[in-house]
Amino acid sequence: MDCNPRSLFFILLLLLSCVTPAFPVIYPPNEVNLLDSKASQGELGWISYPSHGWRENWEEISGVDEHYTPIRTFQVCNVMEYSQNNWLRTNWIPRQSAQKIYVELKFTLRDCNSIPLVLGTCKETFNLLYLETDDDQGSHFREHQFSKIDTIAADESFTQTDLGDRILKLNTEVREVGPLTKKGFYLAFQDVGACVALVSVRVYFKKCPYTVRNLATFPDTVPMDSHSLVEVKGLCVNHSKEEEPPRMYCSTEGEWLVPIGKCLCNPGYEERSNTCQMCRAGFYKSALGNLECSKCPPHSFSHHEGSLHCGCEKNFFRAEGDPASMACTRPPSAPRNVISSINETSVILDWSWPEDTGGRRDVTFTVLCKRCRGVTANGSNSGTQRCEPCRSNVRFLPRAAGLHNTTVTVGDLLAHTNYTFEIEALNGVSALAPKMRQYAAVTITTNQAAPSPVTVIRKEKTSRNSVSLSWQEPERPNGIILDYEIKYYEKEEQETSYTILRARGCNVTLNGLKSNTAYLLQIRARTAAGYGASSPTFQFETSPDSFSISSESSQVVLIAISAAVAIILLTVLLYVLIGRFCCRSKSKHPDEKRLHFGNGHLRLPGIRTYVDPHTYEDPSQAVHEFAKELDASCIAIDKVVGAGEFGEVCSGRLKLPSKKEICVAIKTLKGGYTDKQRRDFLAEASIMGQFDHPNIIRLEGVVTRSKPVMIVTEYMENGSLDSFLRKHDAQFTGIQLVGMLRGIASGMKYLSDMGYVHRDLAARNILVNSNLVCKVSDFGLSRVLEDDPEAAYTTRGGKIPIRWTAPEAIAYRKFTSASDAWSYGIVLWEVMSYGERPYWEMSNQDVIKAVDEGYRLPPPMDCPATLYQLMLDCWQKERNNRPKFEQIVSILDKLIRNPGSLKITANTTSRPANLLLDRSSSEVPSMGTMGDWMDGMRTLPCKEAFSGVSYSSCDTLAKTSTEDLKKVGVTIVGPQKKIVSSLKALDSHTKNGPVPV
Ligand code: AMP
Repeated sequence: MDCNPRSLFFILLLLLSCVTPAFPVIYPPNEVNLLDSKASQGELGWISYPSHGWRENWEEISGVDEHYTPIRTFQVCNVMEYSQNNWLRTNWIPRQSAQKIYVELKFTLRDCNSIPLVLGTCKETFNLLYLETDDDQGSHFREHQFSKIDTIAADESFTQTDLGDRILKLNTEVREVGPLTKKGFYLAFQDVGACVALVSVRVYFKKCPYTVRNLATFPDTVPMDSHSLVEVKGLCVNHSKEEEPPRMYCSTEGEWLVPIGKCLCNPGYEERSNTCQMCRAGFYKSALGNLECSKCPPHSFSHHEGSLHCGCEKNFFRAEGDPASMACTRPPSAPRNVISSINETSVILDWSWPEDTGGRRDVTFTVLCKRCRGVTANGSNSGTQRCEPCRSNVRFLPRAAGLHNTTVTVGDLLAHTNYTFEIEALNGVSALAPKMRQYAAVTITTNQAAPSPVTVIRKEKTSRNSVSLSWQEPERPNGIILDYEIKYYEKEEQETSYTILRARGCNVTLNGLKSNTAYLLQIRARTAAGYGASSPTFQFETSPDSFSISSESSQVVLIAISAAVAIILLTVLLYVLIGRFCCRSKSKHPDEKRLHFGNGHLRLPGIRTYVDPHTYEDPSQAVHEFAKELDASCIAIDKVVGAGEFGEVCSGRLKLPSKKEICVAIKTLKGGYTDKQRRDFLAEASIMGQFDHPNIIRLEGVVTRSKPVMIVTEYMENGSLDSFLRKHDAQFTGIQLVGMLRGIASGMKYLSDMGYVHRDLAARNILVNSNLVCKVSDFGLSRVLEDDPEAAYTTRGGKIPIRWTAPEAIAYRKFTSASDAWSYGIVLWEVMSYGERPYWEMSNQDVIKAVDEGYRLPPPMDCPATLYQLMLDCWQKERNNRPKFEQIVSILDKLIRNPGSLKITANTTSRPANLLLDRSSSEVPSMGTMGDWMDGMRTLPCKEAFSGVSYSSCDTLAKTSTEDLKKVGVTIVGPQKKIVSSLKALDSHTKNGPVPV
């Protein structure tokens, strides 16, 4: 290798092409250059010192790097001479904000050993020095002003090539200088006899560069010279807010350390590449935070960028408190499948969840109760319906609103009343969309219910022979309490003999009690629906005698007592007589009515609940006692609807002052009447006026002070039941018929509870209104015997409606509620056969005979077995075996509750159902043969006609049609139907064999 130091230059260039870093040079971002020799294209203009002299000094040389980018280098190589002291000084470098600077040197340095023939002066180091000044001192140079930074030596001077050549290696050395205080400085390189080439000199300082961390910007920051960190506060980027003040520390190495705190993007903005950007359309962000914007939930939208919320689509809503992330919702649809189960005056309502809950889970139900008029008993609407909110004392269990379950029990409703329940499903947005709310409605009619028992009885005052009691009205009266029945008896007598009192109010004084005796007492309330259950038994004791009788004075005392008893008896007798007189003359309604029973039977004649108007000496007093006198000017007569015994029956309107106009029926007493006729005519009003029950025709009042004399009652649009049924043959469902029968039985129960025996119960005396409600009417007294066209004279002379009357009433005029029950059985038969005439055209005499022999009417066509059984029970010969009206009502209620039981018809059961002739006692021969049956047929008007029908067996008879009957002359529809049904029944009877009833 060439050992001339000059050849260094060439070697250097060669070397540069190998080691110069790739262009362009990128420095770390935290380094700020103050000087970069490589960046200078032209002469650097550094000065060397001494500038003039006999020896070679630092020389500035131009070259190119591997990219042919020109560079400037300095070199010196005076290794052959002694005492070298060659200085190279940079230009003045302004310090800027740097406190500490770095000097990066890239250089080559020849290994002295690689230079042959050098005189022992060759060095392998050079010195780096600096001088701080506040201004540029130009070419002024003083060696001693410079301070040494370091002596720079090469790490490795040469590198061996594969070919065995030794090439120069580029060394890089970095030195720190600081703290600097003056405005600028110079660097100087002192060569003391080395062969060195300065390829590049870079002077820089370090800074923490501008950065964005946690959505806060941190500016360029120059670190301190010392080891302490610089605390820097960050600034939140646009559209963000500080959550916690952002801070960072800038280290001396220009590194950001320990980020603390952060900023969050505002609502409507999300973080994207260290910035807060608006949410895109269709997205929203409702809260401060660095979450992404969310897609609009179902049924909502956002048309604009930067939305905080998504708006709801039409007919969808967001409730207050609904999170923005929740879908928009709507009110639920109506509840479904509402089922009502009525139990007297309460109803259980059940329903299913709505098909559409509106997309919410907070569905609750609310039940609105309305009391409606203008709805028929079977639930159908009779036209205009007027509803009003239910009274506040209607009870809802668990409650009426905010129900989470699909059931509610509604109690304390009025008996026999139409109610509509509106069941609404509500959710959190129902209130926002009142027009979208839907409900399911169910209409019910409550049953009749008796009052609940009296539970609280108090003893007010006790003496030796009397006790004063008071009690609280029953919790659920279920109607207007007409009176209370007080039953009491001596504890020891065990109810074998008891006394019954009736009281209008809630207190009573029991007189005539034994002293020092324990009594038991029960109270029950009575409404139009009858008696409620009795109270629990209440015990009380009368006070003991206050003195004892000595044996000596006993005789005297006995006499005194006898005298006192005699006086008391006399007083009582007088009192009773005066009382009776007063009752009649003053027409005062007795507040308490006393009945005495021994062994359960009437013991002493007493005043009855129902007051017979004939007991009044002056019947017009009775009528004013029980009936309201109407002014004739309040009555408008429209048309004649029927004919009564005493005159026409008209329909019309009654308008009383400050009351609504109502439709009424007006019975008139035709002119030229006798006193007796007037009395009898008005007697019906006196009786009717004592009743107050939904199944008893209601008296509105009478007109007696002007002519014509009138009785005004509620108007029953469908007239009498028998003709109504005939007009609507086979048009009603079983339940509708049973409903009508229940009404009649309920009215009859009321009458029997009142102690009133009707005596002429028949379909013709039942009236039907537009709602199919049946009401008992016809309360004429003598009329039972006189005016009923059905009534016939008996052997004893009285007039009796034979076909409807119980045998004992026909035989010896024993009219009781039990004989009314017989008549009820006949009405039942009339209803089920749609107004057929009982016993058809049989003569009264034949009827009496057949019934007496034990034969009974057969079941009407398609009659439910249970109803036929009820008829047979009503027709028990022994009257005590007949059902009470209370039982009849309850049997019919059960049927209404369980309509399926109506499907089993009497004709299809094995019960022998002979034409007319059903056995009710074993004394009567059974009807097993065709001959027997024909004997039974002997009473029929068509008996002879049947001789023209050729029949060979029961089978052929059973196939007989109404057409066949027409051929033999039975043309009336009723008997035709009965004969056909009876022939069928006979067929079943002969096949199954006779079964005694
Ligand atoms: P009566 O004298 O009670 O038997 O009545 C004779 C007829 O008048 C009855 O058969 C009915 O057709 C008619 N009638 C009686 N009362 C009323 C009423 N309250 N409403 C409608 N029609 C009635």
